[in-house]
Amino acid sequence: MHIRTPTIRSEILSNAAKRDIWLKLEALQPCGSFKLRGVGAAARAYAQTGARRLVSSSGGNAGIAVAYAGRELSLPALVVVPHSTTARARERIAAHGAQLVVRGDTWAEANGFALGLIERGDAFIHPFDDPFLWDGHASMIDEAAQDAVRIGLERPDAIVLSVGGGGLLCGVIEGLRRVGWEDVPVIAVETEGADAFARSLTAGESVALGAVTSIATSLGARRVCVRALQLAREHAIHSVVVSDRQAVQASLRFLDDHQLLTEPACGAALAVAYGNHAILRPFPRVMVIACGGATVTARQLLDWGAEFGTGD
Ligand SMILES: *Cc1c(COP(=O)(O)O)cnc(C)c1O
Repeated sequence: MHIRTPTIRSEILSNAAKRDIWLKLEALQPCGSFKLRGVGAAARAYAQTGARRLVSSSGGNAGIAVAYAGRELSLPALVVVPHSTTARARERIAAHGAQLVVRGDTWAEANGFALGLIERGDAFIHPFDDPFLWDGHASMIDEAAQDAVRIGLERPDAIVLSVGGGGLLCGVIEGLRRVGWEDVPVIAVETEGADAFARSLTAGESVALGAVTSIATSLGARRVCVRALQLAREHAIHSVVVSDRQAVQASLRFLDDHQLLTEPACGAALAVAYGNHAILRPFPRVMVIACGGATVTARQLLDWGAEFGTGD
């Protein structure tokens, strides 16, 4: 369902970060984000065991991917989203032919309503906490490992990615193990106000945010999945938190530099490279997962840019 995305060396980002920066361009997926890898894999697995309808409560890229997967598998999809979901995301979900229900002020309310609608034969597709999903996300590392040989990278010294609920992190680490890159460290990036993973690592236990205050709503899980915290004990993971302003500025620069529109959720990971963050110091060759995101418009990104101003 997902496509094989390119792995490229970014001249501009390499110059900015003073080291080799490689990009895995997940923004090019048909739904605009990597989510289709995992959601497609999970939806297919549930369809094979008899699911007759897909249900989601994500007002973000997972909801868009569930709508897309439903159409690809000829299964009806129901997506319940809260009122806070952007007009762009609602359009995308409806455009893929899913039934869209708007209910509640928060994701928790929409999710509660969605769970109440589940009938026999429905498959609930979780946005980040499902082994089928991680297995699907891992495919991006299979591709990266094949591409690395072809483009002479051999292997990256570190991988930079964004963390919301931790599904991408779990999938990437599964992929790293699969291709024999289990010793490649992961730099896990969040924005201030969506930093549940960073706080949990500091506390040494799962921490729930009181509220998500970052504009990077795709990183806005109040609590990360248990598996992500387990992996933090098994794999070298460095946690970084950037500001909303840094994330927005990185997305704006990326739009100019690579002609790709991404959410600040993706800008957060890019900001580590654009800012040549100190965490990169030991790593001469870095791969950034440009995870994408289709819930913002260029206008919205420009408005945030104007609001936050330039500089750090
Ligand atoms: C979902 C998403 C994330 C975060 O992924 P998790 O699996 O929740 O950690 C980051 N960026 C974008 C664009 C997303 O859609």
